Amino acid sequence: MAVVISGKELALLKRENMAKTIPDLLEKYGRVPHLAVVLIGDDAGSISYVRGKEKGCNEVGIKNTTIVKGTDITEAKLLGLIDELNQDDTVDAILVQLPLPKHIDSDKIINAIDPLKDVDGFHPRNVASLYLNEKCILPCTPKGVIALLDYAGIEIKGKNACVIGRSNIVGMPVAKLLLDRDATVTICHSKTENLKEITSKADILIAAVGKPLFVKEDMVKDGAAVIDVGVNRNPETGKLCGDVDFVNVKGKASFITKVPGGVGPMTITCLLENTIECFIKRMEK
Ligand code: NAP
Repeated sequence: MAVVISGKELALLKRENMAKTIPDLLEKYGRVPHLAVVLIGDDAGSISYVRGKEKGCNEVGIKNTTIVKGTDITEAKLLGLIDELNQDDTVDAILVQLPLPKHIDSDKIINAIDPLKDVDGFHPRNVASLYLNEKCILPCTPKGVIALLDYAGIEIKGKNACVIGRSNIVGMPVAKLLLDRDATVTICHSKTENLKEITSKADILIAAVGKPLFVKEDMVKDGAAVIDVGVNRNPETGKLCGDVDFVNVKGKASFITKVPGGVGPMTITCLLENTIECFIKRMEK
């Protein structure tokens, strides 16, 4: 039976540690780190993510400003807002909650964020740095996945790691971070043939597919570590669930994460870490 790696527990530990550093930062630099979140519209999922970010900031002692705009905002107006936040010396980190309304080009908005304030690590300059092995702000969810593996004491070096999913925000950067830790990495996607054959050879299996309970027991190697990034609704129960069939896979894996309570809390915690990192970088510039 697999050990369940608790993202909730690790997030709490990390947040307690961060909270202890804030008074020192205040003393050294005269103010605390400041995260600005831009939320467009009233999508329930986005509102819930933004509330989680606000709660995290309050727990740790990071200043948080949420700017809410209607879906009728023009691209030019949003670019103007990003420019204001870029120029505002009291703002250290900017996050634009995705997805944006269809009439707004998300890439254009992300490209407009000052790379030094790009707390998600989505700006092309930060993405390039990641793939060129330069020090940079790491995207939050992939960073959280690696932190969970480390917390559980799972050896990454030399292991076969398989990532299901190749998105720019999860699959690809997770694969790069695993490669950086000397894993042998296979990336699978919707066109992969013989998926089961590949996944069942993985010592470390990362599921970032976006399909409820997609990873079944017969896709998992005995004793594998399975990290579930997916956030889905179970079509039968309507409840939140991951990409992994947790109930059945936990009997075969040696380590596993749960949804909720696994990767999710780590994503927000890494966002808080990144905000502090952006702040220190700017202060020491
Ligand atoms: P995405 O952009 O939709 O990417 C999904 C990936 O899965 C794609 O690369 C796709 O392949 C692949 N895929 C789809 N069907 C497949 C199949 N049958 N076999 C193998 N691969 C298949 O999603 P994402 O943004 O990476 O997010 C993935 C999941 O993570 C979602 O559930 C999302 O909600 C969740 N998520 C969670 C957090 C968190 O903090 N917990 C953060 C971000 C995302 P193709 O490239 O060929 O289409």
